Amino acid sequence: MRFWIGIDDTDSRKGMCTTYLAVLLMEEIKKIGKVIGFPRLIRLNPTIPFKTRGNGAVSFLAEIEDLDQALEITERLVKKYAELEDENTNPGVVFVEEEKAPLLREFSEKAIKDVLRIEDALELIEKNRIDHLKFKNGRGLIGALASVGAQLNDIVYELIAYRMPEKIGKPREYDKESFYDLDFEFYPKIFDTVDWCNDVVMAVPGTPCPVLFGLRGEEPEILKKALNYVKTEPWERWQIFITNHATDMHIINSEKVEDFHSYRLISRVVKKPYEIVGGHVFFEVKTNSGTLKCSAFEPTKQFRNIVRALIPGDVVELYGSVKNNTLNLEKLRIVELAKKYVELNPLCPGCGKRMESAGKEQGFRCRNCKTKATEKIKIEVPRRLEPGFYEVPPCARRHLTKPLIRINASGRHIFR
Ligand code: ATP
Repeated sequence: MRFWIGIDDTDSRKGMCTTYLAVLLMEEIKKIGKVIGFPRLIRLNPTIPFKTRGNGAVSFLAEIEDLDQALEITERLVKKYAELEDENTNPGVVFVEEEKAPLLREFSEKAIKDVLRIEDALELIEKNRIDHLKFKNGRGLIGALASVGAQLNDIVYELIAYRMPEKIGKPREYDKESFYDLDFEFYPKIFDTVDWCNDVVMAVPGTPCPVLFGLRGEEPEILKKALNYVKTEPWERWQIFITNHATDMHIINSEKVEDFHSYRLISRVVKKPYEIVGGHVFFEVKTNSGTLKCSAFEPTKQFRNIVRALIPGDVVELYGSVKNNTLNLEKLRIVELAKKYVELNPLCPGCGKRMESAGKEQGFRCRNCKTKATEKIKIEVPRRLEPGFYEVPPCARRHLTKPLIRINASGRHIFR
């Protein structure tokens, strides 16, 4: 029989990675059955407080004759590798008969965009009689089900290479330049490997997990080819996943906003951007349902220059997640720029020089020509911005955020 096996919440900030455990599980399942196609790494609501890092869950399709044996193998692996002693690690694994997967679509859509309870997962499991393994409070069942049910209309592949076990926890050895070479050769088919402007290799994580590097691209064959370019310590194994990375799948079209959700909304700037200690930039917009505070935090680097240049009256389309009643920007589109003016003393119609003040509330005068004027003049000044899309740089990009290089639109200002 064919089952979708979904797994989540096996790691902690101190170690492990659900993708790694899933790969180990696939290898064990291959010994008693067959694994079909690529595994899927599905990113869920990026604002969820329980997440370890990127809120990712994994699923794969397998042909299994003896389900009890598969359950036994899985339980053994989770007990051996999951970070069970960490209070925030609550693994869940589901075995969903292939034809039942569409019944999980709505749940999955919610897990990507909304906030769910463990009871929601347990109800779905009971209603559809889904075989499962629950460890501790079983919160991982939410992600496990969601990964199986996700309906993907847009996909990106991710090749993840894993470290030799004895290296895990030690600094990663790699040649930075080789990742820049790779980007030079394969961009945009492979993207977000490095951040040129901020000099960061995005493909190599800094966490104590088993991942050595991850390459993100449009085609599996190109990702495999790119493996010849990177120079790193030896890897133990690698695996290609189908993912919803870089798809904006978390974004809801709405003007009414709630914490822990991500939106795309059109609004008008009503409060000039201001900066606080630490380099975080804020401004305020008005939507059809009220005013909203927006932010571009310090890690968004050069994107803040775009935000700093906004003025009241600008019409903007915003993309980002809401937390603490503030929309944290992932990208924006300038729809319409307001006109910007400066006020200057008038020019003398005689000599063409700028007039001087004639005294308080006395207007303006030219001493030489004896001409007079009553008011300052308003002159339009050019804006430093132009309409179009702007995005945060790769080093500040979320897994789910669709980079502009993947968006077919005019007026893109791409940060590579
Ligand atoms: P990694 O990226 O390294 O795999 P992680 O960031 O995915 O780690 P997890 O350890 O999987 O973090 O923790 C996230 C937890 O939140 C899981 O238990 C998952 O089931 C749960 N979860 C995911 N999405 C939602 C949601 N929309 N509502 C409620 N809980 C969720």
